[in-house]
Amino acid sequence: ERRNPAQPEFHQAATEVLDTLAPVLAARPEYAEPGLVERLCEPERQIIFRVPWQDDRGEVQVNRGFRVEFNSALGPFKGGLRFHPSVNLGVVKFLGFEQVFKNALTGLGIGGGKGGSDFDPRGRSDAEVMRFCQSFMTELQRHIGEHTDVPAGDIGVGGREIGYLFGQYRRITNRWDAGVLTGKGQGWGGSAMRTEATGYGSVLFAAEMLRLRGEELQGQAAVVSGSGNVAIYTIEKLTRSGAHPMTCSDSEGCVVDEKGIDLELLRQIKEVERARVSEYAKRRGASARYLPGGRVWDVPCDIAFPSATQNELHADDALALVRNGVKAVSEGANMPTTPEAVRILQDAGVAFGPGKAANAGGVAVSALEMRQNASRDAWTATRVEEELAVIMRDIHQVAHDTAERYGLPGDYVAGANIAGFERVADAMLAQGLI
Ligand code: NDP
Repeated sequence: ERRNPAQPEFHQAATEVLDTLAPVLAARPEYAEPGLVERLCEPERQIIFRVPWQDDRGEVQVNRGFRVEFNSALGPFKGGLRFHPSVNLGVVKFLGFEQVFKNALTGLGIGGGKGGSDFDPRGRSDAEVMRFCQSFMTELQRHIGEHTDVPAGDIGVGGREIGYLFGQYRRITNRWDAGVLTGKGQGWGGSAMRTEATGYGSVLFAAEMLRLRGEELQGQAAVVSGSGNVAIYTIEKLTRSGAHPMTCSDSEGCVVDEKGIDLELLRQIKEVERARVSEYAKRRGASARYLPGGRVWDVPCDIAFPSATQNELHADDALALVRNGVKAVSEGANMPTTPEAVRILQDAGVAFGPGKAANAGGVAVSALEMRQNASRDAWTATRVEEELAVIMRDIHQVAHDTAERYGLPGDYVAGANIAGFERVADAMLAQGLI
């Protein structure tokens, strides 16, 4: 804390990982090498820059841009860009730190990084978003590249923003470098299924956890928080798997729909109109109610998918879920469950899939997009979806088996942290003191 003051999210993420590494540091003396853990906690490079742009009224706005290149022992830095007013260096570092372990778990040869800005896209016109993205990329372009650092989307950065960013990159560099960003449109270098990948992957991870308990998704009542990219495709995959997703939310409130969320209506409101979930309840009719300031965790369910943002599921929410008999929780978002809430769920015997493992499907398909770009190929949606299913099964297996190997059966948090750590640490040790 002395070294990194005022970065509570980064401290939370690092503490959570380091707390679970004791058994592996004890069992494998090579990992206790002085400086290894310290190097893991220190980003290789951190870039902070000014992003000036003009709004529709002609007034100058100044935002702050970040890119934290955390660890490239396993491959080029890889991780999303977040545009949200809450973004600061501590938030980007927490996300970058998590990304290092997540990307290691995928086994696809990618390092970890993260970036973004305190720019708030809400209420901004397309033209304003474009001018902001162009200014942001004008600086970022000198730091990224296919073999260096490959950003993607996150909160507030979807297909529209990736398009504007890619356009500006191409204009400045005079290069059509598909491999410099992932999450591109399918007509111009993007991968099929990238949009769906994080949500689908989170549901596949839940299915694996349930399978080990002799259960399947069919017929399970589900609650989902959020209404962005991850939440929407979590709801789609749940519906396709015969489960019943009944909720969605945004930062102003939540919707409970007794008939199950109407995916077409939700997509129209969020993806086309960029409106609030309150609008969903207005149009859906009697089955749906909107609870201003409400929380989805009070709704009785079998499985839960926190898919909005960090620290959105607190101890009292975990107690409510346990009281209502939840069987599994799969984190679509990054660090949505507070440490106390994780303990409550695990102590109650709930299968808990941490984001590092459960939401790795997005970055995994980004790595598949990089492969397609490198070979100038475009795979079918069926092929990508099949590969995603195999990858999520493997991630579940390695997290599960690693936890067992260290005498912590069922502890996916420890399993994911240790398995990710072993892969990164082995590469760092082999590559010497850098
Ligand atoms: P989107 O911007 O598409 O959606 C974010 C959703 O979360 C919106 O419903 C938003 O509501 C809500 N939200 C954001 N901030 C807050 C907040 N402070 N309080 C309450 N609700 C909030 O983002 P994504 O769906 O892409 O990302 C969601 C989560 O998943 C993030 O934690 C992200 O890091 C993680 N993730 C995303 C991946 C991806 O591929 N996109 C990959 C892996 C993880 P509102 O509109 O009101 O802000």
